[in-house]
Amino acid sequence: MRFGQAELTIIRECTFKLDGGAMFGVVPRPLWSKLSPPDELNRVTLACNLLLIETGGHRVLVETGMGDRWADRERERYGLATLIDHGQALAAAGLVNEDVEAVVISHLHFDHAGGATRLDGERLVPTYPRARYYVQRREWEQAHNANARARASYRAQDFQPLAEHGVLEIIEGDCQIVPGVWARVTGGHTRGHQVVTFESGGQKGIYFADIMPTASHVSPPWVMGYDHFPLESCDVKERWLATAASEGWLVVFDHEPGVPWGHVVVGAGGKFSFVPLAGETLLPGGAAGGRRAGAPPQAPAV
Ligand SMILES: [Zn+2]
Repeated sequence: MRFGQAELTIIRECTFKLDGGAMFGVVPRPLWSKLSPPDELNRVTLACNLLLIETGGHRVLVETGMGDRWADRERERYGLATLIDHGQALAAAGLVNEDVEAVVISHLHFDHAGGATRLDGERLVPTYPRARYYVQRREWEQAHNANARARASYRAQDFQPLAEHGVLEIIEGDCQIVPGVWARVTGGHTRGHQVVTFESGGQKGIYFADIMPTASHVSPPWVMGYDHFPLESCDVKERWLATAASEGWLVVFDHEPGVPWGHVVVGAGGKFSFVPLAGETLLPGGAAGGRRAGAPPQAPAV
């Protein structure tokens, strides 16, 4: 999709399922189940939507998804359907992995960092070999010192090889990745969680990552049970939603299984609601964007 002078593409890396209760925290099931119907195991369907930003001759990839290093029983537990070949992760966008110069990982949970590395024979190598990988210092430290509750979401094999291969860029606080693309710390979901904002030709946008994973999470108090600091998440959401609504920003959701991008409007009583981009559906190969504008629209592969 054209965005000012930039090009935006969503790569749908996988679909997977997580417990609906955990995804919606203190929100009662009768409320969330209307928006996100659970299966017989109480799991709701999610996706990993990676965002490729091409701007000013730079290519930045936001997130890496679940990756494909999962045993059969884990695939079953998470209802995981991998949709891309990580050796050619950007094939749907007509690119090769070497074309990416920067990868921003919002935080190091396995559904965000799992695709950062891939197996090359027996060896774990960076999936995007020419890219620098941007992670907040607080997140890096937490991932190595997680307590019993936080530990289950981190797998050292996802991110440790990045340091060993010398491709890791540890950042502290808000940071420009390339001109027009910024990583911004939010905390909330984890202490070092960051979102990505982008700007081109007077248009602005935000990739919310896990501070607002799906369109069903647009209401500020609808915070995930997984969040380490849920009250902080609620406040951060409120602030970014107000900005996005008043300035007409494009918003992008990392785990939305339907249309993953659109705009936010404020309705009666100050309630935020999401308006998906009209006519945007996923194209063959797990990608959404303007690159194949002539191709016939198809339903999401879920
Ligand atoms: Zn996540």
